[in-house]
Amino acid sequence: MSARTDRLKIHHFLPYSRANGPGVRAVLWVQGCTLGCPGCYNPLTHPPQGGQWLDIDAIMESLRSLGRSIEGLTVSGGEPFQQPSALLALFQRVRAETDLSVLVFSGFTLEEIQRIPEGPDILEHIDVLIAGRYQENLRLARGLMGSANKKAHLLTPRYSMKDLQAVPDAEVILTPTGEIMLSGIENLIW
Ligand code: SF4
Repeated sequence: MSARTDRLKIHHFLPYSRANGPGVRAVLWVQGCTLGCPGCYNPLTHPPQGGQWLDIDAIMESLRSLGRSIEGLTVSGGEPFQQPSALLALFQRVRAETDLSVLVFSGFTLEEIQRIPEGPDILEHIDVLIAGRYQENLRLARGLMGSANKKAHLLTPRYSMKDLQAVPDAEVILTPTGEIMLSGIENLIW
């Protein structure tokens, strides 16, 4: 994957969601993941050839246009930490230019992220990290946890575990183009 800092390979951007973290949040699903968890709920995000490049400037403009209608940004995947340079550049701008909270879903554990060269810097810009491989035999799909082995790390005081547990497990979204989109930690079509 590219080491460029001015663009991210993304799978999808959703401006409004209530099932991907506390409050109303924009959600960015990145494209590309090599971790290969059996039973992964989002295999279309795996191939690095898929998705589309989006400039960090364009992402920031989208977030700015949403104004105070959202309280945070959630980044999911795909694997966000497999584009570490661009992820760091995005989060530096989110922190500098907005007061949005930042929540990240990752298949890496916190310890693995700390060993990525950019990892410690990226972690400084995150409020909540949901970390660890998805394990199908431990499927939970509650309180933002896909499986029971995953860990929620509250990296700042902005949210509590109670806030995470209050997030709806699923949502149905009718897009402006009339499509129906399912989102959240619980897969409604299973
Ligand atoms: S890390 Fe996430 S996107 Fe990657 S295979 Fe595991 S569950 Fe799927």
